Amino acid sequence: MPIATQVEKLDKVYLCKECRSVYLFTGDLVDHRRMSGHSDYVILPLVEDQQLE
Ligand SMILES: [Zn+2]
Repeated sequence: MPIATQVEKLDKVYLCKECRSVYLFTGDLVDHRRMSGHSDYVILPLVEDQQLE
């Protein structure tokens, strides 16, 4: 089975403190900052609970 989808390991998210938007990728955050002018954001760690059965 070919894996064509782009899977990126997510270990953190970016939360814009000015409009509370959450962005998963740095590129999205950069675009948002450029478009909205928002510059205040925090990086939140994504804790992934993997349930192995
Ligand atoms: Zn924003």
